[in-house]
Amino acid sequence: MEKVILNNGVEMPILGFGVWQIPDAQECEQSVYDALMAGYRLIDTAVAYENEEAVGRAIKRSGVPREDIFITTKLWVQDAGYESTKMAIAKSLDRLQLDYLDLYLIHQPFGDIYGSWRAMEELYQEGKIRSIGVSNFQMDRLVDLICHNKVVPAVNQIETHPFYHQLESEKIMKEYNVQMESWGPLAQGKNNIFENEVLVKLAKNYKKTVAQVVLRWLTQRGVVVIPKSVHKERIKENFNIFDFKLSNEDMNEIATLDTNKSLFPSKTNPDVVKQFANWKFDI
Ligand code: NDP
Repeated sequence: MEKVILNNGVEMPILGFGVWQIPDAQECEQSVYDALMAGYRLIDTAVAYENEEAVGRAIKRSGVPREDIFITTKLWVQDAGYESTKMAIAKSLDRLQLDYLDLYLIHQPFGDIYGSWRAMEELYQEGKIRSIGVSNFQMDRLVDLICHNKVVPAVNQIETHPFYHQLESEKIMKEYNVQMESWGPLAQGKNNIFENEVLVKLAKNYKKTVAQVVLRWLTQRGVVVIPKSVHKERIKENFNIFDFKLSNEDMNEIATLDTNKSLFPSKTNPDVVKQFANWKFDI
């Protein structure tokens, strides 16, 4: 498995398994188990996915040594703030049945994230979390966090796929040495991605699938990917991307698909911000 080296020296697999929208505990446990059996060593969950317990059970059941797996979970908006972040991390560790996390992210740039960051910095120094980072941070928010704190986020997990390449963000994150991680690498199937003419053509040329071409394209850019699937065959398919390389010409052809626009509601829209503030999880 190829790895990236984070700004604190921690190694992170470049390909992992995401578990958003697998609310059914049994299905989540089975999918994570299948992913670990297929060779995935990075699992991406969050409080907001309401499946940390199922992820924890799958890890136990797999028998894969803890130190071989890279586990990410995330702080939800309702827990932003110094004390509540410390409590949220303790609860996540408990649900996951783990002693430490490999990566802990602030899921959304809302609420008292500066209090959260101080709590995360402390737990990072104590070794409870091997690396800390953020998600869905626009570049102004990211740079502000960096300028007013000690620890630079190791990762920013943001929407990135063939229709939204995030080139400007990538440039700034490289400047500050923040690893870019893609959420929604397959655009959640939106925009008919699996029937896209360019991608279908490339898939045929390389004797691969559209999903494999997309995941290869992102990892070839140095972006960490965490595709989600509840189907064992797709889980295996999405993992099988290291036996081919896209030519520069083909990378450039994928570049033409960039619309430089998100496929999701903007996090800078006041109504969306309010909606996130009221979005609570009872766990
Ligand atoms: P993805 O881009 O990974 O797409 C998942 C969808 O694609 C599912 O409908 C899945 O269906 C389908 N799919 C997966 N593999 C294939 C394949 N080989 N062929 C055809 N269809 C396929 O979307 P996600 O939103 O799940 O993003 C990935 C992960 O990123 C999440 O699970 C989560 O961990 C993280 N994330 C983080 C966010 C954040 O705010 N930080 C926001 C969103 C996601 P099926 O399951 O039926 O196979």
